Amino acid sequence: MTDAIELSVVVPIYNEEESVGPLVVRIREAMANFGRSWELILVDDGSTDATLANARKELADSSVRLRIVELQRNFGQTAAMQAGIDTATGRLIATLDGDLQNDPRDIPAMVEAIEARELDLLVGWRKNRQDGLFLRKIPSWCANYLIGKITGVKLHDYGCSLKIYQASIIKQVKLMGEMHRFIPAWVAGVVPSSRIGEMPVTHHARQHGTSKYGISRTFRVILDLLSVLFFMRYKARPGHFFGSIGLAAGALSTIILLYLFVDKFLLGNDIGGRPMLIVGVMLFLSSVQLITTGILAEMMARIYSGENDTPPYIVRKVFSGDAPNT
Ligand code: UDP
Ligand code: MG
Repeated sequence: MTDAIELSVVVPIYNEEESVGPLVVRIREAMANFGRSWELILVDDGSTDATLANARKELADSSVRLRIVELQRNFGQTAAMQAGIDTATGRLIATLDGDLQNDPRDIPAMVEAIEARELDLLVGWRKNRQDGLFLRKIPSWCANYLIGKITGVKLHDYGCSLKIYQASIIKQVKLMGEMHRFIPAWVAGVVPSSRIGEMPVTHHARQHGTSKYGISRTFRVILDLLSVLFFMRYKARPGHFFGSIGLAAGALSTIILLYLFVDKFLLGNDIGGRPMLIVGVMLFLSSVQLITTGILAEMMARIYSGENDTPPYIVRKVFSGDAPNT
């Protein structure tokens, strides 16, 4: 194992016991004529079924240089992907899902394309996406449109897991929360958007098992989206965003309440039952809340930018086969 690896293929897997075997076979077949050195990294994200056992059976297959990273528990797809990226040694890193929805046969062409087009990130575009319309496709169309507007990186399919990166670039980006869906937005923070491209890829319906995300995901994605947009736009001082609305509300409430004060105590008018009184008090309370939110947002921005010590994942064990270089 001395030569430099050209490509690391990273796959996060969680309870995919039926898919993991066929996955390794399909990746091996897809890469048979690749002609360069590559490795496969499976990250077992705390599966509770036979995923890890089935993955380990593949270590016997000496035609694939395989490593299996076993996480201590389920940390979520983003953290699992980060674990794989941290483990990868290739000059290029490809990511894909472990449920056979992405097609590894797209990988060699994507490698050609990222090099020919001199890109840092090449994103798959599921032109024929095989997922539900209302809960999956429509929310992601909206997300793609909004992120494109804000970041200037116009992609059709931010959320496609099949992507290829220059390792040096993706290793600079710290994935967090549920942010794997919006990686191009983060990459756009470190390279010009002209170095991010897309390419149509094949997409299959899920064959085994079920999606790891239910309807609550749609809401989570909306919240993630808001956070991404927010942090892209107000990364530096989120407190200023909420704080300025809070201060404006505070100023307006002060004017209203002062006016009512003068009206009642200096001019002696009866102000009981005035809607304005309620509005003034409400605005004052909102301004307190908004300013508090601003302070919290500042604290969150620090946590998000990694200024805390909680590791995103913990590795229990790394298994590796003894395949010769491919
Ligand atoms: N996954 C993971 N950890 C999790 C949830 C999912 O590693 O906590 C993996 C999962 O096994 C699959 C990929 O992430 O390989 C995408 O998950 P899924 O297919 O459920 O998502 P969908 O395709 O429905 O977006
Ligand atoms: Mg899937």
